[in-house]
Amino acid sequence: MDEKPIAADEGSSRYSQEYFSYVRGLFAAASILGCMELILNSDWFLSVPLWLQAVRVSLTALAIGYWLSMRRYDPTLRHAFKVGLLFLVLRIATLSHAMEPHNVAFYLPVALIAVMTLAFSRREIWVGLVVTVAAFLIARQGQIPDRAYLGLSFVAIFSGYFGLSFLRFRARLFELLSQLKDQTRTDQLTGLKNRRALQDDIEHGFRRLERDGTGFSLLLIDVDHFKKVNDRYGHAVGDAILTLLAREIHHDVGNMDLVDGGTVYRFGGEEFAVILPSTDVDGASVAAERLRRLIDATHFDVGPLETPISAGGVTISVGITGAEAGAGWSEMYSAADQALYRAKDLGRNRVERADRPSAVPDDSKMVLQA
Ligand code: GH3
Ligand code: MG
Ligand code: MG
Repeated sequence: MDEKPIAADEGSSRYSQEYFSYVRGLFAAASILGCMELILNSDWFLSVPLWLQAVRVSLTALAIGYWLSMRRYDPTLRHAFKVGLLFLVLRIATLSHAMEPHNVAFYLPVALIAVMTLAFSRREIWVGLVVTVAAFLIARQGQIPDRAYLGLSFVAIFSGYFGLSFLRFRARLFELLSQLKDQTRTDQLTGLKNRRALQDDIEHGFRRLERDGTGFSLLLIDVDHFKKVNDRYGHAVGDAILTLLAREIHHDVGNMDLVDGGTVYRFGGEEFAVILPSTDVDGASVAAERLRRLIDATHFDVGPLETPISAGGVTISVGITGAEAGAGWSEMYSAADQALYRAKDLGRNRVERADRPSAVPDDSKMVLQA
C-alpha cells in the first residue's frame, strides 16, 4: 500500500475564503469611511480638484456596491462588518486631525498595510505599493514637508517587505491549517477518512437534501469474525488485511458509475462506511452486493502471511439505509447499524437494507469463515 492518504485533500481554499471574508471587512470599512468623509468633511472634499472628487465618489460607490453584493453570499460577513465598525470608530476618533499634512505619517502606512493585506500575489503588492504612494503624492501635492519624504520612503520599503512576508506567511498558514484539519479527519492505518469526517459529511448531506432535494445512501460495513482472524494470524496480519480491505473498497467505490462519486470511511476498528451521493437505497443495494461479492472473492495475500488467505476467508456484512428528509446523523447511523446487525444475525457475509428487512437466512453464505 502506498503511503499517500486515500482521502482527497481538502486544500487550503476554505481558509483562503475565510481570510478574504475578513478582508471584505476592509472594503466595508472603506465604504463606511468614504461616506463619512463626504458627510463630515464636505468642505475639504469640495476643495479638491473635480477629478479627485469623482475618483473618491466612484471608489466609495464601488466599495459599497461590492460590499452589498457580497452580503447575500457570505454569512461570515458579520465578522467582517465588525472590522469595518472598528475602523470607523478609529476614523471618527482621528477625524479632527485627518487633514493635517503631517498626518501623512499615519495614513500612508495604514493605507499601504491595507493594500498589502488585500494582495493575492507579488505583482499586486508592487502595483498596490506604487499606486498608493502615487495617489498620496498627487492628493497631497505641495503640502508634504520635505523631511516627510524620507519617512515616506521608509514606509514604502517597510510595506513592501511586510506585504511579501505576509503573503508567504499566509500561504504557509493556510497550508498547515488544511493539513492539520486533514489529519484530524484521516485514519492513520488506512488513509481513509475517519468517523469524525463521516459524521460531518452526513450532516452536510442532510443540509444538501433540505436545500435542493439531493438524497444519498449510507453503507455500514463490518468485517465478519475479525477477532478470529486476529487470533489466528496475529494483529500485524489483521492490520495488513484492514489496509488491503480499505484499498479494495475504495477502489470499487471509485469504479462505481456515480454522478457525484462515493466516499469511503474507516469509522471503527474493523468497520467501514460508504456514502453514495445521489443514490437511492435500490442503487445502494446493488453497489453493496457487488462490494460484498468482491471481498468474498478476494485472496488476501498480505505481507506477513506465508500462504494467502483464500477467497471466502475474509467476508463483510453490510447494512444500508437512505437519507430521509427530517432525519439526521444519529437516526441514519442507527438505521444502518440495525440493518448491519440483522445481516450478522442472518448469517453474515450478506447485505441488509433498513427499509426492507429480509427474514430468511441466506444458507448459501452461512458458514464461510474458517
Ligand atoms: P462479527 O463482527 O462478525 O460479529 O465478529 P468480530 O469478531 O468482527 O466482532 P467484534 O466487533 O466483536 O470484534 C472486532 C475485532 O476487530 C476486535 C479487534 O480485535 C479487531 N480489531 C479492531 N480494530 C483493529 C485494528 O486496528 N487492527 C487489528 N488487527 N484488529 C482490530
Ligand atoms: Mg465490529
Ligand atoms: Mg466484525
